[in-house]
Amino acid sequence: MRSLAAPPPALGGTAPARRHLLDAGSAEEYRCAVAQGAERVARHISAAQRPTTGADPADLQRAVDAVDLDTPLGEVGPALDELERLYLRDAVWFHHPTYLAHLNCPVVVPAVLGETVIAAVNSSLDTWDQSSGATHVERRLVRWTADRLGLPATADGVFTSGGTQSNLQALLLARDEACERLRTEHPRARLPELLGRLRVLVSEVGHFSTTTACRLLGLGDDAVITVPVDEAVRMRPDALQCALAECAAQGLVPAAVVATAGTTDFGSIDPLHEVGALAASAGAWFHVDAAYGGGLITSRRRRHLLDGIDRADSVTVDFHKTFFQPVSSSALLVRDAASLRHVAHHADYLNPEPGTLLDAGLPVAPDQVGKSLQTTRRFDALKLWLTLRIMGADAVGELVDTVVDTAAAAHRVLAADPRLEVVVAPELSTLVFRFRPGAGPHAHLGPQELDRLVRRVRASVGSEGLAVLGGTTVRGRAHLKLTLLNPATTVEHVREVIALVHEHAERLLLADEPLVLDEEPLGATA
Ligand SMILES: *Cc1c(COP(=O)(O)O)cnc(C)c1O
Repeated sequence: MRSLAAPPPALGGTAPARRHLLDAGSAEEYRCAVAQGAERVARHISAAQRPTTGADPADLQRAVDAVDLDTPLGEVGPALDELERLYLRDAVWFHHPTYLAHLNCPVVVPAVLGETVIAAVNSSLDTWDQSSGATHVERRLVRWTADRLGLPATADGVFTSGGTQSNLQALLLARDEACERLRTEHPRARLPELLGRLRVLVSEVGHFSTTTACRLLGLGDDAVITVPVDEAVRMRPDALQCALAECAAQGLVPAAVVATAGTTDFGSIDPLHEVGALAASAGAWFHVDAAYGGGLITSRRRRHLLDGIDRADSVTVDFHKTFFQPVSSSALLVRDAASLRHVAHHADYLNPEPGTLLDAGLPVAPDQVGKSLQTTRRFDALKLWLTLRIMGADAVGELVDTVVDTAAAAHRVLAADPRLEVVVAPELSTLVFRFRPGAGPHAHLGPQELDRLVRRVRASVGSEGLAVLGGTTVRGRAHLKLTLLNPATTVEHVREVIALVHEHAERLLLADEPLVLDEEPLGATA
């Protein structure tokens, strides 16, 4: 066989546009650019005194808008200088211990290393001829995750961009399984008639992506039946049983029951055994949304919190939450690889029907595109691979345990504060609380005024930038939320943040701001 020589790098390699391509001629430039970028980021990470500067959106918009995109800077240095002003200086730093707003994690270095390899090699995980070994790496990690979840040998899955997409794919499989069964009874029914009967059951605090998925899947928002939760914010099996009986009585088909292992606001874990058993007896697909709680599979001390997850027909795991991976990295695992046929498609240019290859005496190369809703797809699995190969799953589990331990200690601090009330003791790592009515300096405020105070405190703390807090609504009332996903956050940091909360509340109460106005005056225009 004739071998093709690589083109000499000098040939056109210095032409102005060509020199920016990553190729043999620019390997040194690539090393230099990445090192410069890493140096800037490292400087900011070391220097960050607060999680953010609380920059004004309008100021940053003016700065971004002022950039002339048609006049390139030509070099890395000036572009990084500009980026410092537009982004890095005021970025929100998740590694800072008083960033407590959302389910964002500080990232582990092995995964960041993975990210740089992913970008430079730029494999695409749809077919073998765009990925080679990457396909096997992803498959091994799908297998590893499925094994840790306790799924059987028939399991399979695929990496996705996030929990929202994993949940969408899970519900697509559930929908199509249900439709396939209905087709056997109603072979001539049109698809809309079948879809109209399908229902998806999820707890009232399940993630909104279940509803979005139902909308996209043609079931409509009203296909979602929300099941009440108990005082620990976990789905009530008795209520699920009633809802399923109601479905049956109305001739509706429960296509899926979605349990949440780690609700976004409370970190509560639905009773997976009971919910799974009820789903099975109703003939419904059992999906577990473990976008948040999935990291527990690495914890030696807390893996049992996911007991029952091995009953699932599908599971969502977000590696970019409790595995300390850079965004984005998630996976959908399925109990039975055959269920992925609902997303399979054979495109002649990409993954032709195996028969045509076999007919030509060719082997069928492994591909992942037939398992995914995406076509071109990042090699996000590499980040988890390097994480497991460099630090190991136990080390990830230790980080998970640290944040859960800190949350338990922080709960004791909040529960001991007579001015606050906490919604529920954390099973994972979030704390949701509010000023206790009739207590402390806010004693004179009614519920709506307290709502307003809670929202203003969150904004006020955030604009100062010393801490970033989360917020949510519980039974119609505004609450503050601390999401502890940083192992560097200690209970002392939480104490400091609570002191800030009280300080800002007192400042707002002293200010002339009309907190006690129950309604904004109608038609009042400045
Ligand atoms: C975060 C989250 C999602 C959505 O995941 P993304 O990765 O943000 O798309 C879904 N479900 C739960 C329970 C979550 O916490």
